[in-house]
Amino acid sequence: MQLKVLKFGGSSLADANQFRKVAEIVHADPARRYVVPSAPGKRFKEDDKVTDLLYTCFDLALAEKDISETFEKIEERYRSIIRDLGLDYSLDKEFETIRTAILHCAGRDYVASRGEYLNGLILANYLGYDFIDPQRYIFFRDNGSFDSEKTNIILSAILKQHERAVIPGFYGTMPNGTIKTFSRGGSDITGSIVARAANADVYENWTDVSGFLMADPRLVDNPKIIETITYKELRELSYMGATVLHEEAIFPVRYAGIPINIRNTNKPEEKGTMIVSSASDVMSDYVITGIAGKCGFSVVSIEKDMMNSEIGFGRRVLEAIEKCDICFEHLPSGIDTMSVVINSNDIVGKRDFLLTEICRLTEPDMIEIEDHLALIAVVGRSMVKAKGTAARIFSALSAAGVNIKMIDQGSSELNIIIGVDENDYVTALRAIYDEFVK
Ligand code: ASP
Repeated sequence: MQLKVLKFGGSSLADANQFRKVAEIVHADPARRYVVPSAPGKRFKEDDKVTDLLYTCFDLALAEKDISETFEKIEERYRSIIRDLGLDYSLDKEFETIRTAILHCAGRDYVASRGEYLNGLILANYLGYDFIDPQRYIFFRDNGSFDSEKTNIILSAILKQHERAVIPGFYGTMPNGTIKTFSRGGSDITGSIVARAANADVYENWTDVSGFLMADPRLVDNPKIIETITYKELRELSYMGATVLHEEAIFPVRYAGIPINIRNTNKPEEKGTMIVSSASDVMSDYVITGIAGKCGFSVVSIEKDMMNSEIGFGRRVLEAIEKCDICFEHLPSGIDTMSVVINSNDIVGKRDFLLTEICRLTEPDMIEIEDHLALIAVVGRSMVKAKGTAARIFSALSAAGVNIKMIDQGSSELNIIIGVDENDYVTALRAIYDEFVK
């Protein structure tokens, strides 16, 4: 029989009604054996996420201020779920333990992790599943990095002892036994870790959208859903701001060759997006898989006659960048010119030092920094085979009156990156979408 691991995001578990949907989804398929919940998210726009309330409690306690009002809000979120589900279950003892711990200056990660912990207890009770506390089975090293191998061995063994279980997301344990959380949104990572340990056939990640969209719905009207996407394509799109899944959630399942299926808790009939290792055999209706972009980049342009024959020139430019402790995004170059695209936020307060260092190390004829660049990534595994993709992008942009400032094609031919002025960003994105999708 198949085995599926499911992760439900905060909005999927925000109230009793959402819990009912979750139970229906879980019970609809006997293969759905392991469930990873987030903490209750927002029920409506102005609502609080429980994790945010917990962080507030921690901050208040640290400042020796009263936590009562905020803590009661948290209690009420869980109490109302229990009450509305009609469960004969109480978390009063847990609330008391957590409140006392906060007042006695418990660690920030411990406090934040209680959102998932409490939601996991309720969900396990409601589903009739066992409860597995990741504090005992998901391990971090002393330096704070996740210990994937130790976790995989121990968690695999423990899962074998439980036919069906709920494992709260977001946290694990440090070698000294204290709790450590992943970064925000980290329940996605837990889901992936559990899927790998369970050797699942699929990792279903249930959220409030029906999968990855081909473009940002705030910028493009009704963008189409991506049916299948490879891990590599996803990485390119996520890097450029298309976020549905935590970036690090890819690694455990990718390593084990387990596909991720992004699904919508509110529309379980929709198939969502399948994220797979290879999709060379999966036909897609479009040459491109998706488009994503971001504003806020700067370009450092360097010119020097005969740069092409000066050995070590590029290395010296990168050395200056390294000295400023910044990463670079792209490195388009010509014969006597070299440009380095960097995130504008990264050079705040370092501009003069960066220019001075590059000048000192390379003695250029000209150097300048230009801001307000937007980058757009056009991503698609089918681009390798399709002739004329770049030409179509450029003519669409030219027809829309957009001036292209930079072009970079990844060596895998998986993406084409275009740099345009921030003022042209939305026009450019729409023009490319219309060219390939409409
Ligand atoms: N509850 C945590 C957060 O809000 C983790 C998660 O939801 O994945 O970041």
